[in-house]
Amino acid sequence: MVRQLGPIMPRPGVETRVAERAVSLENFVSGASDGIVIVDSRGRIVVFNPAMEKITGWLRGEAVGKDCDEVIRAPALRPGGGSEGAVPFRDVMKNGQSAPYSETVLLDRDGRKIDAGASCSLVPSPGGGPPFAAAIVRDIGAIKGAGGVKSDFVSLVSHELRTPLALIKGYIATLLKPEVKLDASTERRFREGINEAADRLTLIVNNFLSASRIESGLFRPHLKEIDIRPVVERVVSELEESAHGRLQFRCTGKNFEIVADGEQIALVLNNLVGNAIKYAGDDESLPIRITVGARKNEIVIAVRDRGIGIPSELRERIFEKFYRGPESVSAPGSGLGLYICQKVVEAHGGNIGLNEDSGAGTEIRFTLPRRDGELRDL
Ligand code: ATP
Ligand code: MG
Repeated sequence: MVRQLGPIMPRPGVETRVAERAVSLENFVSGASDGIVIVDSRGRIVVFNPAMEKITGWLRGEAVGKDCDEVIRAPALRPGGGSEGAVPFRDVMKNGQSAPYSETVLLDRDGRKIDAGASCSLVPSPGGGPPFAAAIVRDIGAIKGAGGVKSDFVSLVSHELRTPLALIKGYIATLLKPEVKLDASTERRFREGINEAADRLTLIVNNFLSASRIESGLFRPHLKEIDIRPVVERVVSELEESAHGRLQFRCTGKNFEIVADGEQIALVLNNLVGNAIKYAGDDESLPIRITVGARKNEIVIAVRDRGIGIPSELRERIFEKFYRGPESVSAPGSGLGLYICQKVVEAHGGNIGLNEDSGAGTEIRFTLPRRDGELRDL
């Protein structure tokens, strides 16, 4: 007796044939997310899929039958010179060898540049006639754009990191040389230099990490009920040396308890006081004032200096990412500080801005509302 042990499975090959019929070559080509172009041995376009229409702006009906160099164009190499084919269809057919993936610039139908990646391979003719050449084309503009932002950050930060690192190394190397005898005031200047450079390094690294979290949408304050006074006091005492004794700190009001992320508020203050020190000029008799005011519904924190000031037409621009004022380019910086301050303060539901009634110099103030409500999205 023949016992059936389980469901009868289709013979191998049947599934494959069914799948082949469902996913016909035509469906595959028209549904592909990459551009596909096939040209015949004379260089005439015979297949042009919808993804290719999207990349180049040419419609299939216009492209099919045209010479490939007319549709898949590269920018002219010389002014007034002719456009050259950007994908090597003809070389592939001539040499009988596929061209590996490479990145290039194409022109779309309206002459706009597109960053593209393409590979091209030889397709033998089924009837034994002359071969075809097929290219897969991808618009890589978005990927390059994202990488561009990242590389902006990397090159900027690495440049900014080098200066304080070189300073620290220079001072330490001199202090360690047994043959070099320094007088007390020079030695003190060296130690202050090391301290300032270390403050600067810490700020750059913290700003960089916060900016990349903001960029990737991962930044969220860790909210806790805190007393804001010790947070401000800590920043003031850390920056005291760098400010050469110019910092003045005052609190007004009673209740300094607030729901906030203490580390992030410290980063805001580091940036504001750091700016005040950096742009306050050399007159060490001019104080930098940090005030914390406790009001009924909010805490108001202000940092005021008597330095070079900010023209009121720049009041919005200074909060833009990477923006640096025309007067400040000789000072170290990347233009990330105030951008981060604004994002952090807004994430706490507060506001930050330039106080234009403060007279000479600069006053930046920000508010932190006393509320347990929802956080504003970045
Ligand atoms: P980074 O903070 O990344 O080191 P930065 O200080 O140049 O660089 P921001 O803190 O974002 O960048 O400030 C942006 C610009 O605003 C500065 O380049 C400067 O022109 C101006 N600015 C900020 N604070 C002051 C200030 N206290 N006095 C004068 N100008 C200021
Ligand atoms: Mg700054």
